[in-house]
Amino acid sequence: MSENISVLGLGLMGAALAKSLLAAGHHVTVWNRSPEKAAPLVAQGAQSAATPAEAVQASPLVIACVLDYPAVEEVLAEAPLAGRVIANLTTGRPAEAREMAAWVAGRGGDYLDGGVMAVPQMIATPGALILYSGSQQAYDRYEQALSAMARPRYVGDDPGLAPLLDLAMLTGMYGQIAGFLEAMTLVRSVKYPLPEFTSELLVPWLNAMAAAQPRWAAAIEVGDHRTEVSNLEVNRAGMENLVRAFEEQGVTLELLLPIKTLIDRRVARGLGHEGLSGLAEEL
Ligand code: NAP
Repeated sequence: MSENISVLGLGLMGAALAKSLLAAGHHVTVWNRSPEKAAPLVAQGAQSAATPAEAVQASPLVIACVLDYPAVEEVLAEAPLAGRVIANLTTGRPAEAREMAAWVAGRGGDYLDGGVMAVPQMIATPGALILYSGSQQAYDRYEQALSAMARPRYVGDDPGLAPLLDLAMLTGMYGQIAGFLEAMTLVRSVKYPLPEFTSELLVPWLNAMAAAQPRWAAAIEVGDHRTEVSNLEVNRAGMENLVRAFEEQGVTLELLLPIKTLIDRRVARGLGHEGLSGLAEEL
């Protein structure tokens, strides 16, 4: 079904979102603070609004994607939000999303918060995901239209959930990057080819290890950290080994030392028989 949709903010991400909605056959109205960014989208069939208020009036579904939440508030300040669904795909914090939902509701609008798990080039490709939280009614009404931008996933009615899960996914990514960087440091110390090590050895290993994480997550959820494989005592010895090997190669294990600290602390409490999931209790 073709919908009227307005997109506020035509930076790299907003422009990609608007383009995907146009390609799916929706009637798209666009607005950007610097008006020249609307021209390529107008050439593809979008209507250009002179003000955010005009863009909000044009469509019942309004997608906002600007720098940050203060910018969203600035953009929507003069716009009539009553009866509108505001889908805010700007990156922010859970508390900001909850405040924004209350602010929009106070002005008669319905609110969805979105966490875009993609770069602009991935929009409208199978790998792209957008997490949504907030008004379930608004999500159900527009799920199909939203799916033109990326696979949509509704995670709950607390508006802060999508940004929180977005941040949790980034947290996992940064943790993986920390391990990757330290692995590069060690391998570089013997001048072994880094791309070969990464694609042929490291990535398959990380994928195999990641397969265990849903099991660990279930253990953390119920607080049962019994294991039959690789308990914390074994990992404590493994970490000692790692630290010494790094020293002997003349490099440092700086990014992973906090994990060693956690393992040592848990083992010192007499819980060396637990699995690695037990470390969650130390955080
Ligand atoms: P961008 O290319 O730098 O664009 C920023 C946009 O925000 C522009 O449209 C800019 O308008 C607008 N803006 C900034 N301050 C404003 C204000 N005070 N009032 C009105 N408009 C304002 O950034 P982007 O990559 O599109 O990112 C937009 C949002 O998407 C961010 O929250 C970002 O975290 C999120 N996101 C981006 C990516 C990514 O890979 N790019 C991935 C996931 C999420 P002007 O054109 O007038 O400067």
